[in-house]
Amino acid sequence: MSLMAFDWIAKHAEAQPDAPAIHDLLSDRRYTYAELNDRVDRAALFLYERCGVSQGDRIALLMHNCSDMVELIFAAWRIGAICVPMNWRLAVPEIAYIIGDCQPKALFHTSEFTENAAAAVKQYGQHVMLVEAADGQKCHYEGGLRASYGNLPEVEHGFEDPWVILYTSGTTGRPKGAQITYAMQLFNAVNCMVANRITPKSHGLCVLPLFHVGGLCVYLSPLLHAGGMNTIMDQFDAKVMLNLITDREVGMTHALGVPTNFLFMSQLPEFKDANFDHLECVGVGGAAPSNALLETYARKGVLFEHAWGMTETSSIGTSIPKHMALEKIGSCGLPVLHVECKIADEDGNTLPPGEVGELLIRGPTVTNGYWKLPEATAQAFLPGGWFKTGDAARVDEDGYYYIVDRWKDMYISGGENVYPLEVEDALYRLNGVAECAVIGVPDERWGEVGRAFIVAEASAGLTEARVIAHCQEQLARYKAPKSVRFLDELPHNATGKVTKHLLPRD
Ligand code: AMP
Repeated sequence: MSLMAFDWIAKHAEAQPDAPAIHDLLSDRRYTYAELNDRVDRAALFLYERCGVSQGDRIALLMHNCSDMVELIFAAWRIGAICVPMNWRLAVPEIAYIIGDCQPKALFHTSEFTENAAAAVKQYGQHVMLVEAADGQKCHYEGGLRASYGNLPEVEHGFEDPWVILYTSGTTGRPKGAQITYAMQLFNAVNCMVANRITPKSHGLCVLPLFHVGGLCVYLSPLLHAGGMNTIMDQFDAKVMLNLITDREVGMTHALGVPTNFLFMSQLPEFKDANFDHLECVGVGGAAPSNALLETYARKGVLFEHAWGMTETSSIGTSIPKHMALEKIGSCGLPVLHVECKIADEDGNTLPPGEVGELLIRGPTVTNGYWKLPEATAQAFLPGGWFKTGDAARVDEDGYYYIVDRWKDMYISGGENVYPLEVEDALYRLNGVAECAVIGVPDERWGEVGRAFIVAEASAGLTEARVIAHCQEQLARYKAPKSVRFLDELPHNATGKVTKHLLPRD
């Protein structure tokens, strides 16, 4: 039996047309399901007729969170196109690389990214239609919607077809496009619905970026699947988020953030009197929250639903049931309904409870591959369909998982992954860098920040400021190292690899 993916927004527009679907906080636009459905329809027509986008073609997005972004993602679904929301923090060469890799027909951007979008398309060197969106009545996108009437082509979606591609940097140092299919989305929606009690009455806050599974798939897409409501914040602001989730009149039921979001909120003077009692589910994940943070919120009555997940697992793979949050503090919980996890040694053999090994996961929410990278896809899996997460973890006797370390060369700064290889690659483009290594070091504010170790050519006259400025030109700001140490030589092992664990972290 071949399964088809049905259009959630169109279905809810029929069944509950007047139910609230979206509130875009920045522009204060509010749409019911009927209104959202109409806008998605017009956006799909705009894509099809004006931008020449048909089934299987890509569109790229470069914008902060907004309702236009959600419309475009679901408009792509409606015509079977593949949407590529890009990290707006990326520098021009990084955007150009992604455009070159996925070759979109059109790139939608907001006005603050006009220059970066145009420069990246120029670097790519091929024609890509640039469309300005989300800037009110006068923008190109809004005009396009107003002018779009008519019938859409009939499109049949296969469950295994990609709907979205999310780029994640990897051990190759170059970003890889993880395909998020219709099947992954459906099963993710069901997983979140069950684990986090999502109903048509739920109202979630979307504050994590929509270019990441944290924003798109937890809990935005599960809420749209259930017919619930989303409030969309353009980007994180601790005070605004704290107000939104604690104001009873707003009526929020679900909120998710990375540990840094919750840390910043807890440092506000308003936190002392904040009341979270009306919230049904407060999720945290994307990086390890400290037990101190979990306890700070527990004292305010918030039992975090701590989850673990990855881009490649289309969001949560494990989640802790609320009633176990304190008893199993530090655990990222149990595998969610439609996935299976295990801890394995290097050969994929299952390890007993208590032993640390690699966390493996399989199930219908796991990606079917990286865009145009069959080899990288093959390397990511073990026999039996087990996906290698690169995370070191253990499971206890009750089946609860604990992430203990990361085996992949990566650190997380303010919830954003940084792959040292990518930073090292940028450093090697700077004249005078003979050898370099980048590691993540603990930081109170961001969890971790990058530190570069450089062996410089004697005549180069490199300084810390010069190195950091170079990285900021080449890479998104959060990837640029915050400190630089110059050494006479780097420590190496017998095969010549830099032994990063010997580099000073203090
Ligand atoms: P991404 O693909 O950007 O979602 O990053 C996925 C990675 O973030 C995982 O492989 C982990 O290394 C890390 N991560 C996600 N959730 C957690 C968590 N709850 N605790 C520790 N690390 C996490």
